[in-house]
Amino acid sequence: MAEAKHDIRNYVAGEWIGSATGKTIPNLNPANTDEVLGLVPLQDRETARRAIAAAKAALPAWRAVPGPRRGAILFAAHRAIGQRAEELARAMTREEGKTLAEARGEVQKSLNVLEFIAGEGRRLRGETLPSEMPNTLAYTVRDPVGVVSIVTPWNFPVAIPVWKLAPALVCGNTVVFKPATLTPWCGEILTECFLEAGIPAGVLNFITGSGGVVGEELISNPDVRAISFTGSNEIGMHLYEVAARTGKKVQCEMGGKNPVVVLADADLELAADAIVQGAFGSTGQRCTATSRVVVEAAVAEKLAALVVERTRRIVVGDGLRAGVTMGPSVDQGQLETVLQGIAIAKQEGAKVLLGGERLMGEEHRRGFFVAPTVLGGITPTMTVAQEELFGPVLAFLAVKDADEALEVANGVRYGLSSSIFTRDVNRVFGFLEKIETGITHVNSPTVGGEAHLPFGGVKATGIGAREQGSTAIDFYSELKTVYIDYTGQVRQTKIY
Ligand code: NAP
Repeated sequence: MAEAKHDIRNYVAGEWIGSATGKTIPNLNPANTDEVLGLVPLQDRETARRAIAAAKAALPAWRAVPGPRRGAILFAAHRAIGQRAEELARAMTREEGKTLAEARGEVQKSLNVLEFIAGEGRRLRGETLPSEMPNTLAYTVRDPVGVVSIVTPWNFPVAIPVWKLAPALVCGNTVVFKPATLTPWCGEILTECFLEAGIPAGVLNFITGSGGVVGEELISNPDVRAISFTGSNEIGMHLYEVAARTGKKVQCEMGGKNPVVVLADADLELAADAIVQGAFGSTGQRCTATSRVVVEAAVAEKLAALVVERTRRIVVGDGLRAGVTMGPSVDQGQLETVLQGIAIAKQEGAKVLLGGERLMGEEHRRGFFVAPTVLGGITPTMTVAQEELFGPVLAFLAVKDADEALEVANGVRYGLSSSIFTRDVNRVFGFLEKIETGITHVNSPTVGGEAHLPFGGVKATGIGAREQGSTAIDFYSELKTVYIDYTGQVRQTKIY
């Protein structure tokens, strides 16, 4: 039975609205582009300005709501999302393409984040410290930053908005949230859940439209005090520059080129399982996806054979179909990036060990499907060893020893996630000390992160404070330092 179409609405200044410009674009299912899921409003800058103005107007009342009460509303949002978990997961599979099992996992991750962050409403800690002055109480409190723009990518269309919206709201900020144009439906359902939980009008605004129009307003408007962005380096660096002109706080989580280092003494079966999970889970469209295997030459061939054998078992298709373990690329542009990346790798000397082409069989030809691809003979300077493709492509780089492995692992501009497989505890600690990534794993895949632990990257991957965990509130709050002289009389003048 065909599922019903759903046209996306926006929520601006306490009202559900359609396209103010009259312009829309179709929301396509990447597994079958004949299926138009509904229409997406393409709003203009004026509507974005209305959303920002509404957020500004709602700020004084929302920041005055006690933290524990704001936290209670987030717990109610947790319940609302829990009740709609299956609907949300299905919408995600249909508009983003990941398998239903992956979509359900993402919804669960979002619930974990909400559960943790809602509790922050009762903490929002400051510090009390001794003053240098007698009879003086010195402490810090957390104030909200103000109006926050939240600009998100398509690859985690539920988890990323939740891990930004929840800490922004619990700290007393008001928000304008713009999802990726490719995944607005998930954003709309989330917005409904937050509203049902009791978020007042104006505190959360949800707007769709192109990054170059709506996005530009959200990053340049002087009434916006902070921007939390996840997406590509190109847009992130542009946004950082634009935001600096009006002195906004910025948090950018961007690309990755995540390595798994495998030393000769490693459990190769365990490493192969982790590599395949990390490289091809979510079609390689995770910021923490494994895209490089850096392996000691002595075991390189054996490991590649184990990886190829496991990769052959991947079932590519429509993520709603039972038994499918890998979905499509998200759109035509992403498909072309991946295919072009493979073509360049071949020109530069890569050997295709598996896959390497678009799938065009009966189940695949109306979607953006690429075969899971394993490339051998890669050297560190090749394009595929340096640039993020954001697809199901894995590059094997053979090295002579652990020192060279570390050098190659660090020899890229990105620094999000990494992993090492070895049984040698000395090598493990040497790696943990020197690896240049914000997240690292030992004997486990590069992907995955827990809701109560900080998440984020270094080098070209990350700018600003870490997301998730108890550090999430650092970005969304400003510390105010308070000195109270309780003698009530003029005393000696402070000299510094
Ligand atoms: P993107 O093209 O940079 O888009 C991200 C968001 O920015 C979208 O909402 C987009 O809107 C918006 N945008 C585009 N141009 C803009 C502009 N001029 N001003 C303001 N906003 C603008 O990234 P993507 O293709 O959606 O996502 C894939 C990338 O995200 C990959 O590089 C991946 O590594 C990265 N990522 C990183 C992390 C992490 O935590 N490090 C996590 C997930 C993903 P439109 O959709 O309308 O273009």
